[in-house]
Amino acid sequence: MLPQYSFVIPIYNEESNIPELARRLSEVANHLDGETEFVFINDGSRDRSLELLRGLQDYDPRFCYLSLARNFGHQVAVTAGLNFVRGQAIIVIDADLQDPPELALDMIAQWQQGYQVVYAQRIKRYKENWLKRFYAYWFYRILKRLADIEIPTDTGDFCLMDRQVVDILNGMPERNRYLRGLRSWVGLQQTSILFERNARFAGERKYTFRKSFSLALNGIISFSRVPLRLATYLGLIAAALALIMAVMVLYWRLFPANSPLTGYATILIAVFFLGAVQLVCIGILGEYIGRIYEEVKGRPLYVLSEVGGFTSQKE
Ligand code: UDP
Ligand code: MG
Repeated sequence: MLPQYSFVIPIYNEESNIPELARRLSEVANHLDGETEFVFINDGSRDRSLELLRGLQDYDPRFCYLSLARNFGHQVAVTAGLNFVRGQAIIVIDADLQDPPELALDMIAQWQQGYQVVYAQRIKRYKENWLKRFYAYWFYRILKRLADIEIPTDTGDFCLMDRQVVDILNGMPERNRYLRGLRSWVGLQQTSILFERNARFAGERKYTFRKSFSLALNGIISFSRVPLRLATYLGLIAAALALIMAVMVLYWRLFPANSPLTGYATILIAVFFLGAVQLVCIGILGEYIGRIYEEVKGRPLYVLSEVGGFTSQKE
């Protein structure tokens, strides 16, 4: 019998969270009115995570896992999970218990009301450093202004999606997967549940600053062409400035008595400034072109090295 509910849980070096996570997920599943499966995706962990995942079937037969051949990144790990789950309502949740598993019950209640997407929106974050909070806060607000579509602020990947939505996501060919954006892109009936984001149960953040930055950049570039227009705007501004300066220079030439013209310094600054602006604009172009290149290569999104726990349920 196919499960009604599926959970997708990406795992990257989470050995210290897995036992508690499994306990709480099992508990949640006991309160559900349908068959449930939990699909863990081991994203190339270097600790004992995979070993623990292999052992979970004995603890509860509802647990199954995929193992990727190396660390492909959070968004790809979740994508792999979405490809494999078989439920009618699919819940994506982090492994570190920052997203309380019990909230899935409320999400399912909303789904039963007819919503196809129920996403969790943070109203508070506990124990995350101020720098992370600061850039997360501004990133979501900037993205909201730049994006072509409405992407709600302060929402991560923790959500419930209907089978229909997951099928649409699975059909999207893109490599740069900013899932929370793609999820909004689908539309249909979406609603939010407010929650306070806990601190990690154990372990360190797996999203380094570099990974977060690249995720943020992906979000903006996948959903906005505004940065490309920056070059045009800056070019127009520079042209206007040049015109004003030309008039000023002409004036000082005609009335040299009060001329502040200094020669080299002004020219140097102007040259460097324009050089910098041009490099930034080329860099932005590069970001878009790099992504086109990624898409065109068409490599598979991930490589699996091991799958376990599914068979018992398929029979
Ligand atoms: N994760 C992953 N691959 C990675 C990085 C993270 O599968 O390359 C998983 C991680 O195990 C966790 C989730 O993604 O379940 C969120 O990671 P983290 O808690 O470090 O991010 P944060 O909650 O701080 O944004
Ligand atoms: Mg976390």
